[in-house]
Parts: sequence; structure tokens; C-alpha cells
Amino acid sequence: MTNASNNGSAEPIIHVEGLRKSFGSHEVLKNIDFKVMPGEVVTIIGASGSGKSTLLRCINLLETPDSGHVWFHGQDLAAEHVDVNALREKIGMVFQSFNLFNNLNVLDNCTLAPITLKKMGKAEAEAEAKRNLEAVGLLDFASAPSTSLSGGQKQRVAIARALCMKPDLMLFDEPTSALDPEIVGEVLNVMRDLAAQGMTMVVVTHEMDFAKNVSDKVVFMDQGVIAEQGSPSKLFTSPEHPRTREFLSRYL
Ligand code: ADP
Ligand code: MG
Repeated sequence: MTNASNNGSAEPIIHVEGLRKSFGSHEVLKNIDFKVMPGEVVTIIGASGSGKSTLLRCINLLETPDSGHVWFHGQDLAAEHVDVNALREKIGMVFQSFNLFNNLNVLDNCTLAPITLKKMGKAEAEAEAKRNLEAVGLLDFASAPSTSLSGGQKQRVAIARALCMKPDLMLFDEPTSALDPEIVGEVLNVMRDLAAQGMTMVVVTHEMDFAKNVSDKVVFMDQGVIAEQGSPSKLFTSPEHPRTREFLSRYL
């Protein structure tokens, strides 16, 4: 657990206010407000279809909000002059389905974006990639084809790859949901280390132990609204909203 949430004077890394998003006539996000402070780990829990992925996708501009604001470091992402690509480079995203480049080996997966988008030199990009592969325990696999890895290893490479862009914020969308139960822990351990090093993280997950033990704040989404948010101790021991209680009872 970090103590970033005690840092009352700092500017939020992400500030979402009045966010709405519809697909056709289906309003998927209904007036979402929340903040993520530097160094904070925020987990988002809630039933399938409640809007968790759409919220993450609005934060890194994979979706355009219909109304409301998302500020990243105080900069309104909807403002016309904003350099979307430059901002997106500062936000790492890890998906359920890994999305590695299958035609590239592990090291090249990690260096591609820094070299092509950030114009980093090859030697520097490789040194950074090796540092991050070591941090996720996969330095020995640097020259392995990415297709030869297990699911847990692929997800750890996906995390290392995102870190190679030196993001200020990491978004995780159900990073362990596609994994066999016995290898979920190796990915959660990497995420726990990252949190302990002070990385700011927003994590959509069904891993309630992770939410309880690693996050500073838990957000419960229900049918497009944040029904309840608060510290893990509050939310897990005395949830106020009946929908939160009902949802959590499924995990007992
Ligand atoms: P969650 O991640 O909580 O499961 P999502 O954000 O993926 O929820 O989806 C919320 C709702 O929005 C669901 O009903 C889903 O079918 C719908 N939805 C998500 N993306 C799209 C899209 N691109 N087009 C139409 N409907 C979508
Ligand atoms: Mg989802």
C-alpha cells in the first residue's frame, strides 16, 4: 500500500468529471467523477457490462467521451490543441489478451514503440527493455519468439513493454482474466512490485485480494455509474450501497 492518498496538496494525474458515453441509445457511462493521485493504485470492480473497460478507454483516448472532462496532469484531453499521441505515450495500457506482436521476439516487442514513436536510439531502447524484462523476471527470454511464451509470461512481457515508454500512469484491463488460475499470481506479483515502486495504476480486476491488499482506493461500478468508492478497508468491510454488498457477496 502506498501513502499517496495522504498527499492532499498534489495535482491529480487523472481527473474525470461528468463523463458520459453512449453507444447508440445505450448510455454506458453516466456522469462519472473520480480522481487518481500520483502514486495511487485505484482498482475498479463491478459486474461485466458495467462500463469498466469503456472508462479506461476514455482515459487513454481509445474512446471519445460524449460529454464531461478527462484531465491528465491538469490538461483537458478534449481540448482542441492537445497532442493526443504525445499524451497517450505517457499512459501505458495492459489488456486481458496481451496483444504482443507475434512476429517479433520478446526484446523487439519492447523496443518497437520507443524506437518508432519516441525516436529512442536502438542501444538505449534495448538497455531500457532489458531493465524492464529483468524487473518482470524475463530477461533470459529476451531473444525468445513471443509465441513461445506461456500466457503468464506474455502478460509480464506486455507489462515490461508498456514500462519501456516510461509512462506516468499504467492502466490494466483485467490483466489476469485470460490466465489459468495457477499462473495468475506471477502477474499479480509483478503488478504488486510496480505499485510498491510508486507507479500510478488504475486496475480493472476481479482479483479481490489484490484490490484489498494493494489498492489505495476501490471504485465499484454498477450499470454505468460509480455506485461507491473508498478505501479497501471501508469498501470490503462495510460497503454502504446494497449493490456493492450484493456484488461482493459473490466473492465470499
Ligand atoms: P465492462 O468492461 O464493465 O464489462 P464495457 O465497458 O466493456 O463493460 O461495456 C459496457 C457496455 O457497453 C456493455 O453493454 C457493452 O456491450 C457496451 N459496449 C462497449 N463497447 C461498445 C461498442 N464499441 N459498441 C457498442 N456497445 C459497446
Ligand atoms: Mg471490460
